[in-house]
Amino acid sequence: MLSAQNLELFLESVPDAMLIVDSGGQIAMTNGRVEELFGYSKSELVGSQVEMLMPAAHRKRHVGFRERYVEAPRARNMASNYELQGVRRSGEQFPVEISLSPVPVGSDILILSAIRDVTERLERERRARANEVELEKLVNVNRFLFSLSHELRTPLNAISGFAATLLMGLSGPLNDEQQDHLKTIEQSAEHLLALINQLLSLMQPEFNSENMIIEKIDGRDAASAVCKMMEREASAKGLSFKLDGPEKPIKLKSSHRMLTQILINLVGNAVKYTDRGDVTVRIRRCGRGDGAAVQFEVTDTGIGIPDEARERLFEMFYRANRDQEKEGTGIGLFISQQLAVRLGGRIEFSSAQGQGSKFTLSLPQKGV
Ligand code: ADP
Repeated sequence: MLSAQNLELFLESVPDAMLIVDSGGQIAMTNGRVEELFGYSKSELVGSQVEMLMPAAHRKRHVGFRERYVEAPRARNMASNYELQGVRRSGEQFPVEISLSPVPVGSDILILSAIRDVTERLERERRARANEVELEKLVNVNRFLFSLSHELRTPLNAISGFAATLLMGLSGPLNDEQQDHLKTIEQSAEHLLALINQLLSLMQPEFNSENMIIEKIDGRDAASAVCKMMEREASAKGLSFKLDGPEKPIKLKSSHRMLTQILINLVGNAVKYTDRGDVTVRIRRCGRGDGAAVQFEVTDTGIGIPDEARERLFEMFYRANRDQEKEGTGIGLFISQQLAVRLGGRIEFSSAQGQGSKFTLSLPQKGV
C-alpha cells in the first residue's frame, strides 16, 4: 500500500484534477490542479464535503448517488442525464467530466475521482456542429441556385434568340421604335444571361474548396494562355498587349482552373475598360520562406476607378461607373476575390481615374 506521502506525490504527478473522497463524501486528499480549477486551497478542501464543488441544485441528489456508488463500487465515468457542472469558489459554473475509481482501504472504501474541465472541448464540438449546419445550408442553397440558374437559362435563350430573329427582319419589317424596343429586350436578356453564367461558374463543383485540384503549375504558362485567349479582343480595340515575366517557369502549387478563371476576369476587365494604350500582364516572384508569393500584375491605361468605389469594388453586383456604357454584371471581381482567398491569396488594386488601373493577384508559393 502507498504511504500517504507517496500517494500525495502520485496525485500531484497526474495531469487531471484529482480528489480522494471517503465513503461519507468527505474530501481526504486533493492535488494542485483541484486548487487551480476550483479556486479553493487544499486546507479548505480537505475535510469538506465534496458536494461543495457542485451546483447547489445537484448537491442533495449527489448524496444519494454517492451512497449507491459505495454499495456497488466500480471504476467508471460519472454517468448523468445532464451535463455535469463544477462550481468554482467565485460561484462560476463550468462543464466537467468525472471518472470514479474505488480504492478499498481496510474496511472502508475511498473514491478516487479525476475531474476534467471540458469547457473548451464542448465549445469546439458546438462550433463544429454549427459549422456543419452552416455548410449543409450552403450546399442546399448552392444546389437550389444551380438548378434555378439552369432553368432560367432556357427561356432567356429563347427571348434573346427570338428578339434577334425579329431584329433581322425575318418575320417582316419593323419600324424604328419597334427596333429600339427589341434591342433593349435583346440587351437585357444578354445581360441576365451573363449574370447567370457567371453565377453558375462560381458554383462549379470544382470551385468548392473540398473539390479543388491543387497541382504543381507554371504561373507563367497560365498567364500566357490567358493572354493568348484575350489577344484578339485586345487587338480589335487597337490595344497593345504585353506579357512580361522571367524566361524560366514560375512554379507554384495551386488550382490551375481557379487561377485561369481569376486571370480571365482581371485581363478581361483591363481590356474592357481600356480604349487606348496598353494592357500589361507581369508575373514575378516576391518574398521568401513562408512569405514567398507569386504576383500576377494586370496593368492598363484605361478609365480607372473613382475613389468612392474603392471600398466596394469586390462586392457582388457592384459596378464602379453605373452610367458606363461597358457591358458588365459586377460579379467578376467578387468571384475572383473569393477564388483568390480560397487559394490562400488575395487581389489588390491601385488606380488613378482617367489614367489606368493595376490589379495584383498574389498567391502563396508553398511546397514547390
Ligand atoms: P463587371 O466588369 O462585369 O462590371 P467586375 O466585378 O469584373 O464586373 O468589376 C466590377 C467593377 O469594377 C466594374 O463594373 C468596373 O466599374 C470596375 N473595374 C474592374 N476592373 C476595372 C479596370 N481594369 N478598369 C476600370 N474599372 C474596372
